[in-house]
Amino acid sequence: MRAALLLLFFVGACGPSLEATNYLRFGIGGDGEYYVSPESMGTMQDLEAVSGSLGTVHQGGLVTMNAQGDTFYEGGRAMRVDFDVDDPMTLTAVPLDEQGLVLWSFYGHLEDLAGELSDHGFDRDVFFPIDAAWTPVLPDAMLEMLPMENAAYATAGHFFILLQDLISKDVPLAANAGIVRHEFGHAVFHWLTVGDTLASSPFGAGAQSESSLFYTSLHEGYADSFAALTLDDPDFFAASLNMPARDLSGDHSVATVQLPAEFLATADEELLAIWDPYPLGTLFAATAWDLRLATNDSAQALASLTTAVLTWTDQGDLGDAWGLLDTWVEQAPAGPARDSLCSSAERRFAGAHTVAACGGVR
Ligand SMILES: [Zn+2]
Repeated sequence: MRAALLLLFFVGACGPSLEATNYLRFGIGGDGEYYVSPESMGTMQDLEAVSGSLGTVHQGGLVTMNAQGDTFYEGGRAMRVDFDVDDPMTLTAVPLDEQGLVLWSFYGHLEDLAGELSDHGFDRDVFFPIDAAWTPVLPDAMLEMLPMENAAYATAGHFFILLQDLISKDVPLAANAGIVRHEFGHAVFHWLTVGDTLASSPFGAGAQSESSLFYTSLHEGYADSFAALTLDDPDFFAASLNMPARDLSGDHSVATVQLPAEFLATADEELLAIWDPYPLGTLFAATAWDLRLATNDSAQALASLTTAVLTWTDQGDLGDAWGLLDTWVEQAPAGPARDSLCSSAERRFAGAHTVAACGGVR
C-alpha cells in the first residue's frame, strides 16, 4: 500500500503539470560544435504542436505541384510531440523521441536566423511566418529533385518540407542549422528574383532549357552562400555528412563541372537524366566564400552577392548566370573585393566565362 502511494506521488510530481520555460534542442556552442542543451522558449508557443509566431510544423499531408512548379500542401495534421518537464529547477521540456528533438531544433534554428535577418538587411515580415510539412507524401517530380538535404523549400507555396533521415547521423539533417539556413536561402533567392514569396517560379517544373538549369544552379549557389555566410562556416554539412563536394573552402572549378548545354546535349539519349544543380551552384557559392576570406567580412560578402542578384534580376534574364557573375564584379568596389571576385572568376570559371570587367585591371 505504501509503495503504491509513493508511486502515485511520483506520477503526480512529474508529468506535464510543470510549465516549461526552456526546451531541449540542438544548438551551436561557442566552439562551433553542436550541443543538445536547454534554450529559452523565445517565440515557441506550443511545444506539442511545434508552433509559434515563426510558423507551425504539420505532420503528413500531401504536397502537389503544378506544371509551373507551384507547390500546394493539404491534409497535414497537427504535430503531437510527447515530452516531459520533470525538473522543477530548470523547467526544461525534454522530448521523448528523436522526432521531437529534430523538430524543436528546426524551429530553434529558424528563430536564431529570424533574429539575425535585419543585420543582413532583410525584413523578417517578408518571410515569417513560414510553415513546414513533416514527412508529407510527395509528388514523383519532387522526389526526383529532392536534394540530399532531406529538406526542401517549396516555391510559391512558401513552406518547408522536412523528411526523416534514412541513416542516423550525429546531427540529423533537419536539426542542422546550416541545412535550415540553406533552405531559407532558397526562400530569399526566390523572393529576390520573383519579388514575392507566393509568386510562381520563373521556369516551369519540367523545364529543361539552358536558362532553367542555370537558374536552378544559381538557386543552390545562393542558398549555400546564404547558409555559409550567415553561419560563417563554409562546410556546414560536416556536422551531419562528410560532403567535400559541397565544402565551399574546397578547390572547385568548372573544369570538372558539367554545364547546362553539355547536359542538354546528352540528356536526350539518357532517359532518366536529371540535372544535378549542385556542382555548378557550388562554384558560385565558393566564389562568395573566397570573397568572405579576402575581405574578412561574411555579412558584407552576403550583401555583395545579394545586391548583385537584385541588379541582375532587374536586367531581366534569370537564366543568364554569366550575367550575374559580370554584375557581381562590376558592382564590387575596386580593391580587395573586386580583386577577389576577379581571381575567383578566373580560377573557378576559366574556359567557361571571362568577366570583361576584370580584363587588364589586375
Ligand atoms: Zn537546395
